[in-house]
Amino acid sequence: MSERAGVFNQPQTMCPAFGSLRVGLRMRRMATVAVGSACCVYGLSFTGHFYGARRSIGYVPFDSESLITGGLFEDVHQAVYELADPRHYDAIVVVNLCVPSASGVPLRLLPEAINGVRILPLDVPGFGVTTHAEAKDRLAAAMLRYARSEAERGPVKAPRSGRAQVPVVTLLGEMFPGDAVSIGRMLEPMGLAAGQVVPTREWRELYAALDCRAAAAIHPHYTASLAEFEAAGRPAVPSAPVGREGTEAWLEAVGEVCGVSREAIAAAKEATLPVLEEAIAAAPIRGKVTISGYEGSELLVARLLVECGAEVCAVNTALPQTPWSDPDRSWLEARGIPVRFRATLRDESAAVDAHRPDLAIGTTPLAQRAKERAIPGLYFTNLISARPLMGPAGPGSLAQVINAAIGYKERCTTMNEFFAGVGQGPTAGIWHRSPHQLATALAQAAGSAAVTGSAGAGQRAGQHKGAHGC
Ligand code: SF4
Repeated sequence: MSERAGVFNQPQTMCPAFGSLRVGLRMRRMATVAVGSACCVYGLSFTGHFYGARRSIGYVPFDSESLITGGLFEDVHQAVYELADPRHYDAIVVVNLCVPSASGVPLRLLPEAINGVRILPLDVPGFGVTTHAEAKDRLAAAMLRYARSEAERGPVKAPRSGRAQVPVVTLLGEMFPGDAVSIGRMLEPMGLAAGQVVPTREWRELYAALDCRAAAAIHPHYTASLAEFEAAGRPAVPSAPVGREGTEAWLEAVGEVCGVSREAIAAAKEATLPVLEEAIAAAPIRGKVTISGYEGSELLVARLLVECGAEVCAVNTALPQTPWSDPDRSWLEARGIPVRFRATLRDESAAVDAHRPDLAIGTTPLAQRAKERAIPGLYFTNLISARPLMGPAGPGSLAQVINAAIGYKERCTTMNEFFAGVGQGPTAGIWHRSPHQLATALAQAAGSAAVTGSAGAGQRAGQHKGAHGC
């Protein structure tokens, strides 16, 4: 990937539409139709299925003529009519990708519902939505808005699990399933429960999500969704119950916003904080770490790492600064840790080069870049987001993966030495000769001193050729 910032000097992330598609594809009785260039839809479909989508993505193809004459809109209209079967679907999401969005294909003119199936048109062009994480918020907010208007008109369905018996706190942002359970336990002494996690997994859960005492902005970039909660008269709470200090502040904030008594707040803290302290003490992390990602939980992970003893040198996130991440930003900055929002790969790489950490956590290209420098790297999405962060389970789980990764330093150095010179400079890109021939030619060009010096894989490949005569 280029070191330059992405288009419009924005962070580099995958196609933003993937965020919306993923949210739709994970919901029951939800159909998704993509409108865009075939290559975009192919890539999105491939990635969607790589990440476990269990159903097809609808696609309305177009050409220059149908785009210009308005025929594409007619095609979308027809496709949605054919798909709108209430026996199979509660809703259909129609996603305009870059070309139809730029061309102004007016999805908003689609009917609000067909045969009782809700139609949700959504423009998610790469030039308008910066990250796929924010595209998740776009679709979640569009669904919340629709569901809110339905609830305002009359009775709506309860979720399959039934209506909550106590006031609930809705949780915004995808999280490890166990985290929602942990949060529920923390809230219990205050007479509250963990409510739905937004994005929800089924349409009827949207009503329950809105029917909360407060919304917790666990992922602080869900700003459009939070606006829907605000419109529904539900207050929001920033940050999340992560680490001892984060958990204490969060329980206080939730209790206050939900009108819980001081005694009940104290009881909630008493039930959770000592256990959490023990868990943190039992999960020491020693080492310098840089953190970057595009999930929305980067600041939370940094807080927990700091409490476990790690030296966090820098926190970069592709997401924007919002009021909902302010407590975490100021907590980190008060400890001298720089936090950069809308960070690009160049910012993230610069942090790794400046701090030479024992571990770099980040996106795939960042983790790769770190490994090229013999620094262990972890891919945030698959290895950090996929484990508990909150409650007593968080510190131990995080420490396990972080300490193991830091321990790979020696292996990284060995690998780095072995592959020295490979895939760089003239050995990068497409080889027109077989690699060992190329390596031999390079070694000869560099002279005998280089061949007898510190041997990288290139030189070894040349020696290999000599030994086997191939
Ligand atoms: S051109 Fe637009 S829709 Fe297509 S992959 Fe890129 S960002 Fe996504």
